[in-house]
Amino acid sequence: MFGFRWQQLSLFDFFSAPVVKSSIDTSSTGDSQDEIRISVNPRMRQGWKLEWRRGKGAQLIVPQSLANAPAEVRKSLLDWASITIRRGSKDTVTKAKRRQLEDQVHTWIHGHNENDPARKAQTLRRAGKHLQRLEAQGRHHNLQAIFEKINAEYFDGKLEARITWSTRWGGLSTQSTRKDAEGKPYHLLSISRGYDHPLATPEIVGGVVYHECLHIAVPPGERDGRRTIHGREFRKREKEYRHYEIWRKWHRDELPKILRHPP
Ligand SMILES: [Zn+2]
Repeated sequence: MFGFRWQQLSLFDFFSAPVVKSSIDTSSTGDSQDEIRISVNPRMRQGWKLEWRRGKGAQLIVPQSLANAPAEVRKSLLDWASITIRRGSKDTVTKAKRRQLEDQVHTWIHGHNENDPARKAQTLRRAGKHLQRLEAQGRHHNLQAIFEKINAEYFDGKLEARITWSTRWGGLSTQSTRKDAEGKPYHLLSISRGYDHPLATPEIVGGVVYHECLHIAVPPGERDGRRTIHGREFRKREKEYRHYEIWRKWHRDELPKILRHPP
């Protein structure tokens, strides 16, 4: 695991953390080799691993970020490790202390990863890839064309959203907020693939597209302290769709049958 010199440097850095020696109790196990060795696993991103073998002592495997963490974080981790390897200390106070140390280190790793430029770049790359995977053209219907028609007719063309068929066959129709490759949020409408069917007319597909569009125009509200997604205003507006009855009937009677038989 110590293939590179810079890793050894981080190792040294780790051991230079204050109060390391005194926090490791070697007496209770009666094992003379019972000290914590630290190694860095560069591929590790989250968490850490403690391996303990009698006669060989304990080995703490940490991600690179933790090896370079501030002294108090490294101290928390070592204190955590020393409590963990000190068997027989299972009282609630020690357990709570161990838990608290664990939380401290996890919180630091989480914050570090969030601010890590490499991590951020990765998130944005993924967002860009996700955008490329959006697929509005189905086998029978083009969702983009249907969305544009609905948008013009019911929302003065003002609604901004991207639309795609659901990735999975059984996927539900949803509306969500995503971020693009520049980190800018956008609305995504995902329509159940069950609608991409010769028996579903453009008016029927339009019904579900209109419903998901309405979630943008009529955001969730609150009523008696509870979140309402399909509130009174939503239901009222929903019925303004010109083919509402035909769409509802198809959604209720035909869609479940179609979804039972994947193509
Ligand atoms: Zn809904």
